[in-house]
Amino acid sequence: MRFAGFPGIDFYFKDEAAHPTGSLKHRLARSLFLYALCNGRLREGQTVVDASSGSTAISEAWFARLLGLPFVAVMPASTAPAKIEAVRTLGGHCELTHGDQCPQARALAIAADGACFLDQFGLAERATDWRGNNNIAESIIGQLAREPHPQPAWIVCGAGTGGTSATIGRFLRYRGLETRLCVAEPSGRAFAHGWRSRDPRATASRDTLIEGIGRARVEPGFLFDVVDALVEVGDADSIAAMRLLERLLGRRYGGSSGTNLVACLQLATAMRERGEAGSIVTLLCDRGERYAGTLFDDGWLAAHGIDPAASEARLSARLRAA
Ligand SMILES: *Cc1c(COP(=O)(O)O)cnc(C)c1O
Repeated sequence: MRFAGFPGIDFYFKDEAAHPTGSLKHRLARSLFLYALCNGRLREGQTVVDASSGSTAISEAWFARLLGLPFVAVMPASTAPAKIEAVRTLGGHCELTHGDQCPQARALAIAADGACFLDQFGLAERATDWRGNNNIAESIIGQLAREPHPQPAWIVCGAGTGGTSATIGRFLRYRGLETRLCVAEPSGRAFAHGWRSRDPRATASRDTLIEGIGRARVEPGFLFDVVDALVEVGDADSIAAMRLLERLLGRRYGGSSGTNLVACLQLATAMRERGEAGSIVTLLCDRGERYAGTLFDDGWLAAHGIDPAASEARLSARLRAA
């Protein structure tokens, strides 16, 4: 896609919401099952368990059903009812934790009774074969082969488990590409602090309404050294950009896709100022329908102190010619 405000720069959006389970976690779930199987940790008929507050559990339930395995998702009782319902529809069992009961600890207890723990946060970075096997990076670079700028200047993604950024960053180096990797992070969250100070113990200094990214602590799958830049994005800007995406693409995507778009525009502005042409690739991480009652609901946003109108006007103006 091209915008009048950024002549010579092509923007590409990789639609990860198009997976059967509606988010980029479809890739992670497939990788976690393969990793457990190939390490001999998962046997026929064995129950599979993971701690997840949503998207990952939905994708894991899908693969468990495909393999005919019982699946238990341990999630906080506060998880959106639609997500709990989606796991149940796919045949999964939801075990809800209350108060300060830790979902991770509950999942480990179930694993101690004989279930296979998929461990998304512990294994995201190593479960995916970063050299290939149709991973997210190979898929993007393969699809760009016939485009005017087959080596993008930037690939922009968020970091939740850190699996996606680890895979892309490693693949770029493996293939010897000039492309750089930028992580788009909600302002003041743990990975932003951790990446700058190279401190794996960093924690978030602010809250965020964006789901899937912007973790409270640096997860074990976050690899600092493969990330070339990090852009912090305020929630109002992410939400405005999420709404802008609907106008541009005719479909709704979630908040983290908006965070990505804001980071893309910041990188594109710097390219324009240096007179560079080229391409920027980012991800559409999940479907917007999941947020109909939250990020897409003006009343809900107002109740959370967010008015994205000013951000929306500013972003739209940047897309138009100066
Ligand atoms: C998990 C997730 C991300 C981040 O991906 P990771 O590979 O876990 O770092 C981004 N957006 C959404 C909606 C997610 O669910």
